[in-house]
Amino acid sequence: MKRVLITGAAGFLGSHLCDRFIKEGYHVIAMDNLITGRLKNIEHLFQLENFEFHNHDVSNYVHVSGELDYILHFASPASPIDYLKIPIQTLKVGSLGTHNLLGLARVKGARMLIASTSEVYGDPEVHPQPEEYWGHVNPIGPRGVYDEAKRFQEAITMAYHRFHGVETRIVRIFNTYGPRMRLNDGRVLPAFIGQALRGEDLTVFGDGTQTRSFCYVDDLIEGIYRLLHSNYPEPVNVGNPDEITIGEFAEEIIKLTGTDQKVIYKPLPENDPKKRRPNIDKAKTILDWEPKVSRSEGLKITYNYFRNLSEAELSEVDHYEFDKFIK
Ligand code: UDP
Repeated sequence: MKRVLITGAAGFLGSHLCDRFIKEGYHVIAMDNLITGRLKNIEHLFQLENFEFHNHDVSNYVHVSGELDYILHFASPASPIDYLKIPIQTLKVGSLGTHNLLGLARVKGARMLIASTSEVYGDPEVHPQPEEYWGHVNPIGPRGVYDEAKRFQEAITMAYHRFHGVETRIVRIFNTYGPRMRLNDGRVLPAFIGQALRGEDLTVFGDGTQTRSFCYVDDLIEGIYRLLHSNYPEPVNVGNPDEITIGEFAEEIIKLTGTDQKVIYKPLPENDPKKRRPNIDKAKTILDWEPKVSRSEGLKITYNYFRNLSEAELSEVDHYEFDKFIK
């Protein structure tokens, strides 16, 4: 049985990766320090023989006993609100955390895939963004802690690949949505759906002409799975090129939820990218991948997930008793 370490395993993407690797017959070693992740996302896996959970911050030395075939590094705060609240941890997990895990990959002879981001392109001057574009990032702006940690993460990963011969993969993830996003993480989709469910007006930042391109989580996980098993060590964009303005997106959510609330406008956060859309030619050619789930299908599934949360979850009880989950 192949063994995979997934960091950030209790988070949105990490938990979906755990499900996928369990489904594919792997032994999954899940790791998370539960700052932004939630055990609830993976508690259905706790009774499985081939699943184990470690409550650990990978910015500190990482120990895993036994063999390891793969490491997927998905631990990081990943929403503008989170990295404003915990900027130092954000910088550390992308830099020190990645360094620790690359060291682990090296001693174990494991292949390591890192979760990079479209944020490496910053507020892009090239549109859509191909992997060759170097980006337009403000290192000292509010997003700098995330963007620069992720850029450093790519640099150290390529250095371990070139200097130590570690097998590495880099996925640049564009905006992704689906079940298990946190309702209060500040991201636009849970923000809008949460507002609709609570009967509040939808807050569009700026004039709503900024664009994003939203990918449904199952499509993203498929792209990552393929990239891990490919032999391509350089960054690959994985995202959905179907671009929409945030103003139009708010209208779609109003229609989807049937809310009678309206859109209200708030100031645009500093350095908020004006447009974003992946060029996915590389993913198409190298991974034979492209997204399959349309925004209308994906939004329906995601809305059902949020709608079925309990009252307590809707008001975001984020802390679960850890003891309950120890085998
Ligand atoms: N946004 C918004 N209202 C909100 C939350 C976000 O208009 O309540 C905007 C935000 O300014 C950005 C876009 O939606 O232009 C996407 O924001 P998100 O935080 O989801 O991700 P980003 O792509 O900026 O990292």
